[in-house]
Parts: sequence; structure tokens; C-alpha cells
Amino acid sequence: MPRILRVLAPNPGPLTLQGTNTWIVGARPSLVIDPGPDDPEHIREVHREADPVGAILLTHHHPDHAPGADLLAHVSGAPVLAFRPVANEHKLTDGAIVPGGDTTLRAVHAPGHTPDHLVFFERESGALFTGDTVLGRGTSLIDPPEGDLAAYMRSLSIMLSLAPRVIFPGHGPAVWSAVEKLREYVDHRKDRERQVLAGLEEGARTAEELVPGIYSDYPKELYPAAARSVLAHLLKLAREGRVARIGRPVDERFALASGASCERCGRPVVPGSRLCARCGVAALQEAPPGPGRTTEAGGDAHSGPSSETTGGRGST
Ligand SMILES: [Zn+2]
Ligand SMILES: [Zn+2]
Repeated sequence: MPRILRVLAPNPGPLTLQGTNTWIVGARPSLVIDPGPDDPEHIREVHREADPVGAILLTHHHPDHAPGADLLAHVSGAPVLAFRPVANEHKLTDGAIVPGGDTTLRAVHAPGHTPDHLVFFERESGALFTGDTVLGRGTSLIDPPEGDLAAYMRSLSIMLSLAPRVIFPGHGPAVWSAVEKLREYVDHRKDRERQVLAGLEEGARTAEELVPGIYSDYPKELYPAAARSVLAHLLKLAREGRVARIGRPVDERFALASGASCERCGRPVVPGSRLCARCGVAALQEAPPGPGRTTEAGGDAHSGPSSETTGGRGST
């Protein structure tokens, strides 16, 4: 097993737990994962422990993971590698192997927390470096539109297929029951999804309206964050055709889909409707008031079939 060392960044907080974990893997040269914030003291300590550095790897570009990479690259001379490189960084593709002195890391694309998120797998030890996709404590934040729950669920299965032995997360302690932790994450989201669907059985709701019923055991300060998580579930369910989106984006509500599709665009509709909310508005605009005119679909020469609206509403 290669040397695996953690240097904790001095940025504790509600989302970062006790701070960002900067991981140093192997030696002569070592590989550094997530230098963390741009804190000179922290970067000096990372450099002292990691020297010589072969490469600096970023799980993603959030401010608690990436900004220290510039300074570490400057003092160590090592390149910075990321899935979506910015400035002088280099591209790391899904499946790429990064060699260190006595180990290699495989980059695995694991979107969901962010679209560009990578996790890193060290095969010999079974160590999986998960960044913000799996934390040592609590759950990962999936905040739309950057966060995508459907992608995240696929990423959890990909990580399970690696059969890791230990998880070294971006925040919180190492997790030695790695597979159990990943299964727990999958089950947790499936439970939440059931709760969201149950909440919609009463009628159309916004994400915020669903929160108190689902998070009744949690303090109210957490409700705004919980609403983002519920929204991530609703958007996933909408894309799967199990939930319909009603109204304008500013006051959007969600309802259980009736199983029927909009006659124009094929999106799910609420029970009793032939058109989804968006096509209903379009039909109203297309049909000027006048004797004998109706606002129903198909009643207007301008309202052709709907291929231009097919394909959803540009959600992430
Ligand atoms: Zn993050
Ligand atoms: Zn983070």
C-alpha cells in the first residue's frame, strides 16, 4: 500500500465539516489531490510533506478544493490536472492513469455534485478518493442546476463497481466500510425519493412546501438547503416522466404525473389535462380572442405539431 497522508486545510464550516482534506498519495514523486483553498500556510505544509510532487489532481473546482493548486504548482513545479481544466491546467479524461513514484491513480468521471467531478482510485490498496461525492460524515450536497441527482446516482453505481476497500473523502474522516457507505448513500436517496413522491400525493407542491413534511426532525435553519435537495429529486423525477412541472420557473410547482403525455410536446401532464403548462400558455397566446375560437391545441393554424418544443425545457 502506498503512503497516504492527509493534510487538513484550515477552512472548517457547515459544508466543509472540519475542513478540506488534502491527500498526498505515494512518494518520489507523490500525487496531491485537492490542494484546498489558497492558504499559503496550508500549501507550505502540503509541499513539505509531499515534496517532490509529480502531479496535482483536482476532484472539482469548488473554492474549498482547487484555488491552492496555483501556489502548489508554483512552488513544486508539478502540473495541475482536472476534468475541465482552466488557465494553465491540463485535461484529465475519464479512465486516465496518473503515475506517481510508487503508485498510480486512475481518474474516474463521477458527475452529480458538479458536472466535472472526478474521483481517484488506487487499485493496489482499493483506496477511493471521493472529493465531494461521498463525505466522511453526512451526505453530499446536490444543488441544481450544477448538481444533478440522476448523474449522481449513476456515479454512485460506478463507484460501487470499483469495489473500493476504503474511502478517503474531501471532508470528514476516512470510511473503512467503503461499499456499505456507498450502498447507504444509494438507499438514502431512494428513501428521500419515496418521501418526495408521497408528499406530492396531496397535490401540486413547490420544493419548499415539501420540506417540512420530509425534514420534520431537522432544525428550520437547514430548510433552505433541504429545499435544494428536494428540488434535485423533483427535477430527476420530472426528467423520468414521473412528475409534471407546472407554472413559470419563479413559482414552479410539481405534481405527480398522470401517466398521460402532453398532446403537443410529450412531456408528462397533470391529471385531467391534455397539454403541459408550457404548451397550454403557448396555445393561449396563439389563439387570439374571437368568436368561435378555442384555446385548445390543434385548433389553430399556427399550432403545428410540436417538434420544436419536444425535448424538454432545457433543464440541466
Ligand atoms: Zn464541492
Ligand atoms: Zn468540498
